[in-house]
Amino acid sequence: MYSVEEICPDLSWQQELSDAFTRLDDLLDFLSIDIKNLTEHERACKSFPLLVTRSYAERIKKGDISDPLLRQVLPLPAELQQHSNFSNDPVGDSTATVLPGLIHKYHGRALIVTTPACAIHCRYCFRRTFPYADNSAHRSHFEHILSHLKSNPDIEEVILSGGDPLTLSDQRFKEVITKISAIKHIRRIRLHTRLPIVLPSRVTDFLLDTLVKISQPIIIVIHANHPNEITSEVTQALIKLKHPQITLLNQSVLLKGINDQADILVKLSHRLFDAQVLPYYLHLLDRVNGSMHFDLPQHEALTIYQHIQQKLPGYLVPRLAREEEAMPNKTLINQ
Ligand SMILES: *Cc1c(COP(=O)(O)O)cnc(C)c1O
Ligand code: SF4
Repeated sequence: MYSVEEICPDLSWQQELSDAFTRLDDLLDFLSIDIKNLTEHERACKSFPLLVTRSYAERIKKGDISDPLLRQVLPLPAELQQHSNFSNDPVGDSTATVLPGLIHKYHGRALIVTTPACAIHCRYCFRRTFPYADNSAHRSHFEHILSHLKSNPDIEEVILSGGDPLTLSDQRFKEVITKISAIKHIRRIRLHTRLPIVLPSRVTDFLLDTLVKISQPIIIVIHANHPNEITSEVTQALIKLKHPQITLLNQSVLLKGINDQADILVKLSHRLFDAQVLPYYLHLLDRVNGSMHFDLPQHEALTIYQHIQQKLPGYLVPRLAREEEAMPNKTLINQ
């Protein structure tokens, strides 16, 4: 017997993805926002195009140019500024790339750049300048990656990242994860995905069925930065993912003007917990070209962090960390 899902997987999320906003004027129309120097904003889209799902856009307050969700996706003229502390590869991914599409930086964990595609383009993203054309695990590279994983028994955890691994179709995602799962020494499989936040309809029954049939435990690290991102629809999608096989964690990026206040981050932790997700990392910004206006001095980050520690039980406090080149682990910041 086949379930209905197997014969006819839920494709509505793919339709939603192709209906996402890709033009700034359309997005601003939808939000009833008028900006005068539109062409200057549009220039910032040349190197990194605008992309926002409708589901996400609906959570932005109409008419509010400084809405914290809009600020994450709105191209700004400031992105074109260069600064000597900012570069195209701030975390040393190119030196840690062992094969096209495979980054092996930390002991026991290898990260696959599963696809260049995302469902949203976050303006602060450290992969905004990533050379995806040569470095993602498209079909020909994927077989090489699999043989590398097979012949390296010290790799015990595979991280499917990107881009966003859940932008792959249900069938392709199933093929990828099933092939990785067949490697005996892989003990855990992790997904880094923003899809449950920006496109909750992506959490299909088919996806869930695929995940729970994998023999290894699955860790899903979602990416939410602000409590307004966690609507009831998102909460439902996350609760749907809750299963003995699956651990749900969240990582955020500390962003100036967006979530750089203790009460916002405290509220985020509470909302995540309501959706059965535990906070994992609060990242300091990766200093990628074009993201300077999101940067916060480390001492300010620490002050905010101390405040959230004072307001939350320990298990709701994310680890404050920075990603650095050529380090054996992410650098935890505590002073
Ligand atoms: C962040 C990261 C990981 C995972 O690190 P954890 O501390 O285990 O979450 C693995 N590989 C790369 C390249 C990373 O950037
Ligand atoms: S990789 Fe993640 S942070 Fe970067 S643009 Fe895609 S969804 Fe946003």
